[in-house]
Amino acid sequence: MIIYRSGSEESSQQWHSQVLSTSRYELTRDFEAIALSPGEVPQPGNMVLQQVSYNSADTVWTLVPGRSSPQIFINGSVLDVHIIILQDRDYIGDGRVGMYISLETLPQVKAFTTGDDKTYCVRCKTEVKDGDKAVTCPGCLLVYHEDVEIGLNCFTYSNTCVHGHPTAMNAGYKWNPDNL
Ligand SMILES: [Zn+2]
Ligand SMILES: [Zn+2]
Repeated sequence: MIIYRSGSEESSQQWHSQVLSTSRYELTRDFEAIALSPGEVPQPGNMVLQQVSYNSADTVWTLVPGRSSPQIFINGSVLDVHIIILQDRDYIGDGRVGMYISLETLPQVKAFTTGDDKTYCVRCKTEVKDGDKAVTCPGCLLVYHEDVEIGLNCFTYSNTCVHGHPTAMNAGYKWNPDNL
């Protein structure tokens, strides 16, 4: 997950991006995320961002307001629950400063881990086996082989995946709040 924090000066429409690479952070009142080690307690009033796994492979990011947090708004509505699941491009703020959430990910070649069901590559239709080098497309979330050494570059085979999402491995993040 990436957060885009608004500049603290009213005049500055600059966004500070921060890539969250571990699974638990506290959020300061200026919406700066600080990594928490396991068991570490956040400062009073700070919110917590936490990645939660379910179904063994799927994860969501949650936001837990602190007990004495100032009033927080999410997409313009008062946040009055104890935990929420964050959605792509949610805006969380206190009326003064805030941040956008981006769940965009970059394509990454990883050794594939099989689940309960067999997985078939969307491009070549053959099975993606445990340990095969593969990419989960950030756009369609489907799995493609990507092993150039053996000529099985099913993801980068074309400029787009079979559903039209770009396959460049080094294109970087495409979205930021300036696109709004
Ligand atoms: Zn394939
Ligand atoms: Zn795709």
